[in-house]
Amino acid sequence: MKAEGKVVVIGAGLMGTGIAHGFAVSGSDVLLVDTNEAQRGKAVAQIARLIDDGVARGKIEAGVAEAAKGRITVSAAIDEQAGDAALLVETATEELGIKQQILQKAAAILPADALLATNTSALSISELAAAIDTPARVIGMHFFNPVPKMKLVEIIKGLETSDEALVTAIAWVGRMGKDHIVVNEAPGFTTSRMSAMMGNEAMYMLAEGVASAEDIDKALRMAFNHPMGPLELGDLTGWDTRLRVLHYLHGVMGEKFRPCPLIIKMVKAGRHGRKVGRGVYDYDESGTRIPGSGLRIN
Ligand code: NAD
Repeated sequence: MKAEGKVVVIGAGLMGTGIAHGFAVSGSDVLLVDTNEAQRGKAVAQIARLIDDGVARGKIEAGVAEAAKGRITVSAAIDEQAGDAALLVETATEELGIKQQILQKAAAILPADALLATNTSALSISELAAAIDTPARVIGMHFFNPVPKMKLVEIIKGLETSDEALVTAIAWVGRMGKDHIVVNEAPGFTTSRMSAMMGNEAMYMLAEGVASAEDIDKALRMAFNHPMGPLELGDLTGWDTRLRVLHYLHGVMGEKFRPCPLIIKMVKAGRHGRKVGRGVYDYDESGTRIPGSGLRIN
């Protein structure tokens, strides 16, 4: 297994965009795949913005930035362009079936020694890996949002994950300038288990009228020194993704993860969070929160 070379990123959503950007600026050619054409266009524009922003803030030299932009290719499907890749990072919609199908296609097209990583927030790495004949090369590589800012990657070992896969994953993450922790597989790992629980409880509090959205978030920021409140964090993560994680955790870990009905209602109403301009709060075109827009229940 190699910790250098071409990277295939599957899913050009919130996370895939940041992950593709991270690999391109750290010197890898990136093939970014998404079935949704509009999303592919949006991702390319956002990656260019992130790179330009890096130049403006003095984090990337202009020459490096131009080279990084030239390293990204987009595609609607995993095709022959993935035939010489060293790493795949699957970061499509949080659904077991979708992710297993992607791993099957990847296993058929990528070289036999390529590392196959998934950015799932909670799903079982062992169950994902069981979809292919070579589960030893499947690993969890859990990035955080926004990827360019967040320094940690949680690396998750499935039952069959090889030591070589673990060492290679750590090396890839290091190349991107990120730190890591290694976690033995458990639903939601260390981070999603905690944030899903906190966000769910905050939504119950909002639904019960305990306090306003603004004050629930202010409580966590000012009383516990969290950089953002749980409702703000849910808006950033996306309540559609958060709800999928909660459904999964509820199924495997029981009642304490039962999704708050208000989250279900919000997702049905299309209030998916900042990525669509409305979640618990409303956002303007630039993604800036509109003051006083916190969801009112009563
Ligand atoms: P998103 O909804 O923004 O993006 C998912 C993308 O996957 C969409 O653009 C969709 O078109 C694409 N997609 C779906 N099926 C596909 C397929 N078969 N082939 C190619 N593309 C496909 O979601 P996101 O927030 O980027 O989350 C992606 C993954 O990352 C999920 O597993 C999620 O749990 C995980 N994750 C999310 C966060 C977060 O804060 N949002 C943090 C860590 C991990």
